[in-house]
Amino acid sequence: MKIVYQISEIKDLLMQVRSQNKTVGFVPTMGALHEGHLSLLERSQEKCDISIVSIFVNPTQFNDPNDFLKYPKLLEQDIELLENKKCDVLFCPSVEEMYPNGLEERLNFPLGLLEEVLEGEKRKGHYQGVVTILDALFKAIQPDFVFMGQKDFQQVLVVKTFSKELFPNIQIISCPTERDSDGLAKSSRNLRLSAEARQTALRLSQALFYIKNKFDQQNPSKIIEEAKKMFLEHPNVQLEYLEMRDSNTLEALSYETWPKNNAVLLIAAFVDSIRLIDVLLLFEELD
Ligand code: AMP
Repeated sequence: MKIVYQISEIKDLLMQVRSQNKTVGFVPTMGALHEGHLSLLERSQEKCDISIVSIFVNPTQFNDPNDFLKYPKLLEQDIELLENKKCDVLFCPSVEEMYPNGLEERLNFPLGLLEEVLEGEKRKGHYQGVVTILDALFKAIQPDFVFMGQKDFQQVLVVKTFSKELFPNIQIISCPTERDSDGLAKSSRNLRLSAEARQTALRLSQALFYIKNKFDQQNPSKIIEEAKKMFLEHPNVQLEYLEMRDSNTLEALSYETWPKNNAVLLIAAFVDSIRLIDVLLLFEELD
């Protein structure tokens, strides 16, 4: 695996690749890699001639400075995992390389409702940080395909909206969520959970599957209210939201008319002050 630190270096390398008419798949990550990330790499390897993973903990997408400071950094272990998976290129630039004019220079891309609801509402500025770094990464790498996790459902919608406008030749592929055997969605942030907090964190996926398994039998809003009770009276967990929304737009669904193949359940909660999210489509509809 080739490890590249500079934009000029990755551009040179990819010029050679493109002169051979090879397709380029790209998996952007913030490192502390787990099987979720590696499943994206596998999808890229199946579909593309060359696969590139980036590791960059992007400061501008953290609305909470403490979350940024505590974000796990495990570069040596990540390199080993990627080498074992036969990744072609790892791009791990410095903050100075990605933000040569400082962290204040950010894209201001109109995202409409996507920036006003759920993650957009709770994490002010987060998605402008995401599109700012992806703009720089997409310009450097110019991939044919980008592989992203459906777990960050709203992020995929944001990136599809932004790239349709600014990078129409790039195809964004949304991939299924990898879970531990007990249902917990794999996440780099899980590394920060104590054994007890990890047990509590199971409530996120349990709530989603509870609703999905029951939703046909009763009024969905009633089932969602029932699922929310799993988060009451527990000192170490605070539910931020648990909602069912239109999976194309994230608009609220009218339960009388909602199209059944268009619904997604989204949840966010703090467990021991660590913010976790999870998502479940009511009907599978992957790219
Ligand atoms: P991150 O390193 O958290 O920024 O994530 C990098 C990419 O991996 C994003 O596209 C995430 O949606 C994706 N990802 C994170 N967790 C999972 C998971 N459990 N299953 C599949 N993809 C994931």
